Amino acid sequence: TKWVYSFGGGASEGAADMRNLLGGKGANLAEMSNLGLPVPPGFTITTEVCTHYYDNGQTYPADLEAQVEAAIEAVEGVVGKTFGDPKNPLLVSVRSGARASMPGMMDTVLNLGLNDETVEGLAALGGDARFAWDSYRRFVQMYSDVVLGVDHGFFEDVLESFKEERDFALDTELSAEDWQAIVARYKEIVAEETGEEFPQDPKTQLWGAVGAVFSSWMNQRAITYRRLHAIPASWGTAVNVQAMVFGNMGETSATGVAFTRNPSTGAKEFYGEFLINAQGEDVVAGIRTPQSLTRAAREAAGEEKPSMEEAMPAAFAQLVEIKDRLEAHYRDMQDIEFTVEQGRLYMLQTRSGKRTAKAALKIAVDMASEGLITEKEAVSRVEPSSLDQLLHPMLDPDAERDVLASGLPASPGAASGKIVFTADEAEAAKTRGEQVILVRVETSPEDIHGMHAAEGILTTRGGMTSHAAVVARGMGRPCVSGAGGLVVDYAKKTLSAMGRTLHEGEIVTIDGTTGQVMVGEVKTIQPELTGDFAHLMTWADKVRRMKVRANAETPLDARTAREFGAEGIGLCRTEHMFFDEDRIIAVREMILAESEEGRRHALSRLLPMQRDDFIELFTIMKGLPVTIRLLDPPLHEFLPHTDAEIAEVARAAGVPADALRRRANELSETNPMLGHRGCRLGVTYPEIYEMQARAIFEAAVEAARLTGEPVEPEVMIPLVGFRAELDFLKSRVDAVAQDVMKENGAEIRYLVGTMIELPRAAIRASEIAETAEFFSFGTNDLTQTTLGISRDDAARFLTEYERRGLIPHDPFVTIDQDGVGELVRIGVERGRTAREGLKCGICGEHGGDPASIAFCEGVGLDYVSCSPFRVPIARLAAAQATL
Ligand code: PEP
Ligand code: MG
Repeated sequence: TKWVYSFGGGASEGAADMRNLLGGKGANLAEMSNLGLPVPPGFTITTEVCTHYYDNGQTYPADLEAQVEAAIEAVEGVVGKTFGDPKNPLLVSVRSGARASMPGMMDTVLNLGLNDETVEGLAALGGDARFAWDSYRRFVQMYSDVVLGVDHGFFEDVLESFKEERDFALDTELSAEDWQAIVARYKEIVAEETGEEFPQDPKTQLWGAVGAVFSSWMNQRAITYRRLHAIPASWGTAVNVQAMVFGNMGETSATGVAFTRNPSTGAKEFYGEFLINAQGEDVVAGIRTPQSLTRAAREAAGEEKPSMEEAMPAAFAQLVEIKDRLEAHYRDMQDIEFTVEQGRLYMLQTRSGKRTAKAALKIAVDMASEGLITEKEAVSRVEPSSLDQLLHPMLDPDAERDVLASGLPASPGAASGKIVFTADEAEAAKTRGEQVILVRVETSPEDIHGMHAAEGILTTRGGMTSHAAVVARGMGRPCVSGAGGLVVDYAKKTLSAMGRTLHEGEIVTIDGTTGQVMVGEVKTIQPELTGDFAHLMTWADKVRRMKVRANAETPLDARTAREFGAEGIGLCRTEHMFFDEDRIIAVREMILAESEEGRRHALSRLLPMQRDDFIELFTIMKGLPVTIRLLDPPLHEFLPHTDAEIAEVARAAGVPADALRRRANELSETNPMLGHRGCRLGVTYPEIYEMQARAIFEAAVEAARLTGEPVEPEVMIPLVGFRAELDFLKSRVDAVAQDVMKENGAEIRYLVGTMIELPRAAIRASEIAETAEFFSFGTNDLTQTTLGISRDDAARFLTEYERRGLIPHDPFVTIDQDGVGELVRIGVERGRTAREGLKCGICGEHGGDPASIAFCEGVGLDYVSCSPFRVPIARLAAAQATL
């Protein structure tokens, strides 16, 4: 087997389409070198080695070593240096590179190959002893931390006290001799901590680093990241070994990262940061504040230090040419890393750049307009769930702001919450139901769980490409980074600026779109849904087959749904209309009535209210279908609990409170979700459904009169298991419809259908479809009843299932395709054998989940229905499902 693929020196053994084997980084290094771009030579150890490693007790394939040796020789040939040669040493970087990029998750070692002898050779080559010893100390620290597991704090302490003793403020003040002394001290620490000398043999160093990359695939941070991003552990990571080039060889050297377009706004402008006389990780680590790439950006930011365009015009011009080529070649926005070594430009990485939802949208729409990609490709480029970010609140421009400080606008959106200073506290607060802003000097991969739990993230150090910024953008969390005016005191748990001090638990608001940090909560507003958003949605709607409806019952929800492009209401839960203050008493009276007469008395009060609700709903949804579900929830949800509530209902019903309390006790159930609910209510109290049907039909007549457009209500019966239940209830609904038509001298077209939310209903769908005129899959209950897992209690143990990898995702969020999904498939198939073209939809929460929507497309549903805010997500996901 071929385990090792070489790149650089003109041609490569790999290419961009070999990402599964070479990882993203390796595949793109190969591709760039095939394009003739200046890529330092190197080789990629494939992801199959990683898989082999874990399948075989953490050992390598027998022939790997020989292949690596050969690949090193090839690199030596290209650069004319030799690994371990004291006079002319080859140094390499070792980096991980999985199929999907996992920022900050995996470890990197630079300057590998340095030892007590080669450091002298490097000094001679670089013409500078200081540079060589600086590189060596970086290597010892990085290698010891990543490979040998020696805490980097030890090394930082040594450096800090060294500087203190000599009154040095900056690292640049240290001389070659100083670094040499520090290296000696570092090596002592390694010997103390590990019981062994720091490895001097470059080959030993190399295999140590390779092993560390493979091991890091299974570290907790990587496992967490994969879980959050649904990346299978079986993919494995590749290892890239590449000849070093040095951005820290003096003032004509530099290192930087850049995006071919602005990853925050999507604007078509070259965007990035660089540092003169610095090495790779310095930019990302946020230790020094980087400089702008372009003169325009520098001027806009009011920075004093020159931009790359000004400081290194030749290398900059070449970089611009290359970034244009890369973007045109990959037909996507690229995130690139480069190094300038003594005036010569080298490309170290390119990949499709991570971007905010706003940028994703703008870039997709712009690129389609530029003719770089098609409209369909544009549709496929935007992650549906990321639209959530755009539909999130922004700060109300008119609201008062008590600005405490400003930082970088690292990830857009506004958020308020109590300040917390650790990831663990953020997570704990979230479990208590509190909203928090995680405040850190800077974040690291250990903080991911807290960043996830927080509403927003605020850091006092680090740039637009710092860990906090990159991760927050990926998660869709608002983030302000590098707010240098703020001082965080972890010990005292305070955040202060300009003489003001905030303590843990006090509320701040951050605006990730402008970078402002404000004291207290600031009012927010909903964003506009025009421009790029509207364009993309139009394109999505062109390719979409399934309709998208909304689950809505209030006028506000219905209006929002329409604004977001809903094509009807797929589920109006009438019980939600029963909780308003003026109604709940009548509803309770109805439920607690001992006789049909008592119930009818209460129902007569409810009828006009329900009718008005429906008139409003039909009017708002004018011209679109509206599915109204008759009363569904367990009775206990409506029962009065306190003495005051019981007294209130007793008064309204004109019965003694004691009798009412007795009746309430009678009605309480041990297992209400499987009890007296759904169509069972209609069977025991037909007058309830008759009242609701009357309200619907009378409202249809009235709304048609008001709007001049016919209304065709879809009446839906919940929780049907037997066809006979549906027969019984449908005949009553039909009878009411006849009455209303006669009374009003009007014709009403309507459908009576059912929810399929019990396994029996799915299995017996063919006979149920003989009566039902449409099906709507209630996958919340169908999941609950198929898995036998209470939807209300699932969170307590399902999170543990997910954590242990027993289930791939929460089945109440993403449909369990093999189980619940199979019942949906059976339901659709059998239903349509009995009634050709039977209209089938879904109205469980899954109707707004992109993965479940793809499944719905596959089984041929006619529509999905979801909460109003998810309608755009569903429109896009439904479109992508057809591509
Ligand atoms: C369902 O069960 O999927 C459904 C939509 O109904 P509800 O959530 O109201 O039970
Ligand atoms: Mg249900």
